[in-house]
Order: sequence, then structure tokens, then C-alpha cells
Amino acid sequence: MNQLATPAFLQGTKKLLIGGRWVDPASGQSIEAINPATGELLCRFAQGNAQDVDRAVASARQAFEGPWSHFTPHDRRKLLLRVHDGIMDNFEELALIETLDMGAPLARTRGYKEWLSQLLQFYASQTGAAGSVATAPMSIAPGFMALKHQMPVGVVGGIIPWNGPLMGLWWIYGPALATGCTAVLKPAEDASLSALRVSELMMEVGVPEGVINVVTGYGKDVGQALAEHMGVDRIAFTGSVGTAQAIVRASAGNLKRLQLELGGKSPDIVLADADLDKAVPGASMGVFTNSGQVCVAGTRILVQRPIHDEFVERMKAFAKTIQVGNGLTPGVQMGPLISQRQLERVMHYVDVGAQEAQLASGGQRLGGNLAQGFFLEPTIFANVRNDMTIAREEIFGPVASVIPFDTVEEALKIANDTQYGLAGGVWTQSLSHAHKVSQGIRSGTVWVNCYGVIDPAVGFGGTKMSGYGWKGGKEHVESFLYPKASYFNLN
Ligand code: ADP
Repeated sequence: MNQLATPAFLQGTKKLLIGGRWVDPASGQSIEAINPATGELLCRFAQGNAQDVDRAVASARQAFEGPWSHFTPHDRRKLLLRVHDGIMDNFEELALIETLDMGAPLARTRGYKEWLSQLLQFYASQTGAAGSVATAPMSIAPGFMALKHQMPVGVVGGIIPWNGPLMGLWWIYGPALATGCTAVLKPAEDASLSALRVSELMMEVGVPEGVINVVTGYGKDVGQALAEHMGVDRIAFTGSVGTAQAIVRASAGNLKRLQLELGGKSPDIVLADADLDKAVPGASMGVFTNSGQVCVAGTRILVQRPIHDEFVERMKAFAKTIQVGNGLTPGVQMGPLISQRQLERVMHYVDVGAQEAQLASGGQRLGGNLAQGFFLEPTIFANVRNDMTIAREEIFGPVASVIPFDTVEEALKIANDTQYGLAGGVWTQSLSHAHKVSQGIRSGTVWVNCYGVIDPAVGFGGTKMSGYGWKGGKEHVESFLYPKASYFNLN
């Protein structure tokens, strides 16, 4: 386990990236990066504040108006492909930093590689979206012509969570580079290191100074300052509903464009005709993957009553096969939660669940040689009702609520009885049921006989309290652009 060398990058105190240079934060203070598998200090990183945000936004603005604005779509595509190669060449180190910093097993963080390759190539293919087209002469008068342009919105503030920054940051950097925007990234205080290393590699392959900037620090300081800043044109946020509401309010000053991807309490519906050999592991990993710290997690597993008990038994057996441990250990499938605070929050929900439903499996913090880390067993509650707290609130831990239902209509009613609308799933061998349920779930994304698959070229998003704005696909690129028309009198 300890044969993997700690990356040299993790030495010393990490600085802020502003205007192409690594600079000290105005506060002179730093934050500890803790390895959640061991509770040990990995390194320290800069505690930015509003002054640093000012500097970063000014550098992003200068870059937006400077030579970067003369990059052609072809130049931006070449740059994105160089970024792709730089990231791929250093991926083993990036996966290791991510595992050490946020706990996900190496098997998972290494597994991002191919997906990230596809994602970067997708954004490289989209650089022509920021362009112009001439329209045919119109009805105003002879000799008039119009040009329709798609213009980059400007400086984008990216505020991301800790549950997978190595992937999540690309929903900002990818479309920003594709469209000619510039970015100020604020990683989460619990997992900032991979974002810093990725940004360093991007500078090394030639991303012009100021095009990407990183200000680490706390949400109330850096995040709030970005959301309020009059020089930021758009915010891309992933995180909790309460923070999103604060961002909506803070963004009012200059009417920023917003993209908000928030939490969920996604229903994963297992019909009696499902192939349980696929549905049991599929629905289980739909919750337990990344220790349940996934916004699209299918945490409400709705199971048709005739198979409820069998499903729970098989899920319990499956959960016992999941190897939980330090993500550096070969074979480990589930790592720790991100922090002591998050562990306590999730344990609170386990206690609440044990009062209101039937704890079928798990629920214990792991001890022994894992006692210093923030580990929780995969946890299953059975015979849950949808009005119970554990079925209503997002837990963000490896906790599944199995809810019995009788008819497909009832399943849809339960599925949609939530404030959220991010994702959902259905397991069935009937084509008509698959269609009916996938149409009937009110969410931005639905999976049929699979869970969590995301194609960068298609994307995903939410509705209701899960937010708005699409990540991935053409819509995402277009949301970094605004339309503009120029009318010409050629007479
Ligand atoms: P979680 O509860 O999953 O940590 P948060 O919404 O608190 O989700 O955090 C997501 C991101 O939002 C983090 O980078 C965090 O620092 C940032 N953040 C927290 N509070 C604010 C705020 N008031 N304004 C802007 N960003 C914030």
C-alpha cells in the first residue's frame, strides 16, 4: 500500500494561481489538506479571500480581452488537445493526488482516465461553436445583411465540491477553453489539490496566463466573493441547495448567468420483472460508489413488493462483498467519507433511519486499522416509507433506502414525491415499462438497466431543486456563449 511514492507536488504550502503565477494569498494564511483515509496532514494550501478574488478576476478579465481573444477556434482546439495530452501523460500522478486528498479508491480515480480523455476531446471538437454565420438578406430592405455571432460570455467563476474535483473541474475549464472565456476556479476546501496540479499542468502545456486562475479557500470567503463580483459574468456551481440559494442572491448585482447543479434524492426503480443479477449490483453501486458522495446517487431504491425481501437479502449479500478501505490498497472498492464532519452528518442520518425504518445492514463506523479514517460500512435500510427523513433528505454517504411499492403508477408517484429532480433509474425487462418509467420520472437524467453512465457529448442536468443548466453536450458549450446580431446596410 505504501509503495506508491507521495507525489512531489504535495510538498510545501500550495499557492494561488493568478495571472499565470503562483502567488501567496493576501491573508498569509493556509488550510490543512487532510487525507480522509488516515486523518493525516497531506500538505497545506492557501486560504484565499475577497482580495485574492479581485486579483484573479482582474487577471481573467485582462486575459479575456488580451491575446486570448485572438485565438481562432483552430488555435483553441489545438490548445485543448495539448491539455488533453498533458493530463493523460500525468494521469497516474493526478489519480494518486485525488485518492490521497478525497479518499476515492485508486481503482476509481484511475478509472476516470478514459472518460476524461473523451471529455477533453469532446470540448476540443466544440471550439467552432463560438463563431459567426451570415444570414440571407432579410425582409427589412434590399441590400441589408446580418451576421449572427456566438460570443464568449467573459469571465466564468467555477465553484466546485469535493466529491470528484479531478472530473468536476472540467465542466468549467472544458467549455471555457472551447469558447474563449476565462475562468477563476474555486475548489472545495476539503479537496483542492488535484485542481491545483491540473492547473499547473495546463500552464505547462501553454494555456496563456490569466486564462485559468485558481483561488483556494473557504466558501464564505472565496465562493461568496466570486458570486458577488461585478467582474464575473457567469457562475458554474455544483454543491448544495442552500449554497446555491446564497449564490443566486449574491449574483443579483450584475445579473450573472448561472449554472447550478445541486443535490438529489434520486429514485432507482426495480420492477418485479427485472434481471436481479444485474439490478442488485447495479442499484447497489448506484448508491455506494464514491461512498455515496455522488450527486446523482440513486439513494431511494424503489422495489416492487413481491421481490422486496429477496432484493434486500441479495443487496445485503452484495454489500458484504464490497471491500472498504484505504483507496491505495489494491482491491479496495469503497473509500472513506471526505471528513470527520461529513462522517458525523451521515452517522446522524443512520441514527435517524434506525429509529424510523429497519436497518437491514451496515451502519457502523469502521475501526481497527481504519479507525483514524472516516469510514462507514455500506448501509441499507429496508421497508422505508417515502415520508421518512432518510427518504427525503440528501445524506451524501453510503446509505440506501429501499422503499416497497405495488404498481408502476405508485412507483412513479413516490419517485416524483421529492423536491429534487436530478436523476433516476429503472430496472425492468419490459420495454413498455422502461419507456413509461423513464418518461414518467421528473428528472434531468434517467438510466434504464444501468446507473450513472454519462457521455460527455450528451451530458446531464437537473430540474426542480436540483438546479438548472446542463453539463456536457452542445447545450453546455452554448451556455458559455451569448448570441449577438450585427446588421449591415450594404447599399
Ligand atoms: P457541500 O455541503 O457538499 O460541501 P457546499 O454547497 O457547501 O456543498 O459546497 C460546494 C462549494 O461551494 C464548495 O467549494 C464551497 O466552498 C462553496 N461554498 C460554500 N458556501 C458558499 C457561499 N456562501 N458562496 C459561494 N460558495 C460557497
